[in-house]
Amino acid sequence: MRIFSFVLALWLGLCAVSQAAPPQPEPPAGRNVVLVIIDGVRQQEWGGRSVDDAGRPVRLSELFPVLLKLQKRGVWFPNLAISNPAGVSLPAYADIFAGRRQEKILSNHPPVEDFRSHYPTLMQEAQKQLRLGFDGVSLIASWAPLCQIAALAPVKPEEEFFRSCGFKSNAPSTLEPPLFFKPEVYGGSRTDIDTFVELLREVPKRHPRLLVVHLGDADEEAHLHARIQRKLSQHYGIFHYHQALRQDDYLLGRIWDALQSDPFYRDNTYLIVTTDHGRDTAEDPAQWASHGRCIAEKIRTRPCSGCSGVFALAVGPGLTAKTARGTYLHTDLAPTIAKLLGIQFPSATGKPIREIVEPAARAPQRIGVGAPPVYLTLPPPLPAQPLTQPAGAVSSTQPVLPAASPSAQPMQPTQPVQPAPQPPSPVSSLAAPVRPASPAATP
Ligand SMILES: [Zn+2]
Ligand SMILES: [Zn+2]
Repeated sequence: MRIFSFVLALWLGLCAVSQAAPPQPEPPAGRNVVLVIIDGVRQQEWGGRSVDDAGRPVRLSELFPVLLKLQKRGVWFPNLAISNPAGVSLPAYADIFAGRRQEKILSNHPPVEDFRSHYPTLMQEAQKQLRLGFDGVSLIASWAPLCQIAALAPVKPEEEFFRSCGFKSNAPSTLEPPLFFKPEVYGGSRTDIDTFVELLREVPKRHPRLLVVHLGDADEEAHLHARIQRKLSQHYGIFHYHQALRQDDYLLGRIWDALQSDPFYRDNTYLIVTTDHGRDTAEDPAQWASHGRCIAEKIRTRPCSGCSGVFALAVGPGLTAKTARGTYLHTDLAPTIAKLLGIQFPSATGKPIREIVEPAARAPQRIGVGAPPVYLTLPPPLPAQPLTQPAGAVSSTQPVLPAASPSAQPMQPTQPVQPAPQPPSPVSSLAAPVRPASPAATP
């Protein structure tokens, strides 16, 4: 009887406790990462050197007020380079997703059998290792091909993750049909506004721990300038490219605000922003409209960093405002994110970026003073290859990598980026890209 009374009292006590403290929502089980890639941001724009159609300067604060604000609380990487030789989109996304050079993807139009990821991607590894399920990893992209290269096929049903690119998604057909408020503006690509609306609709209900977002309007508007010029000999103007960049900067702010207003993400999420390539620096009045040509045509006559010099910004727990001195590649982004998520990424060849994964580590010692930043090691002329190729279909066997120079200096976003005044030197094969020598690697 005494035991019965004790058990009854204990049970009543437990009930009282559970009534007094209503169940709290479960805290997220780890850090989250959101990667936002804005397509085709030229160095002149993110470097604060752009001009409008009348040749008047366009200030950095006019184009990227949100990026500048985030820069004050995160790590800015002005010495990032693409890891592919083509300077076009698909090879860049293939490398970013897989954390390594994807040798068979050298243009936006690879052969059908190669139009896929050839290695496991960051999204797959995160889904599998963290057992995140379909909702736990999401890719939401304006450009349709990104869903196709986001995974090494075949993907087991239980290892699928949410992919929404262009006008299609792999979500099981639900009661909520896809909605497009600006359909078919860019012929096949979803507008960034519709991509953003998709994000607003899907992210709160799925809460992915890894979210990859692609915004493509700026690149579309730049190409539109070239198309109208070619077909009608009319001037469309850089105004529209700049407007798209302003819009994407605004959307970046909306994404940040959405993350910070959601307890699942607030103060627990890294935001990494980058671009897939720059734009041409050929001496052509409309050079900003295209990209990829600098590798195919101009590299043999003059140095050109327009396509390959890109940026990154990382904001998140433990990160404070600083400009990273290290020289990095696109292929380093996925291993960095893998480290932040606490997963392994054995097939990647990139290395975690120290300024992000070890923000408290001692600052690397600066080596060399006064030399301009170096983005490229230019390959020697290749007489066997034709000098011109159609933009977007560049095929080269020479990788474009930052020069293995210890003299790379940190750049401020308002400083111009100059190509290295160095003679061309050979580079290695695509299969084994040479990593840039980084002062960060030699403390
Ligand atoms: Zn692109
Ligand atoms: Zn493009």
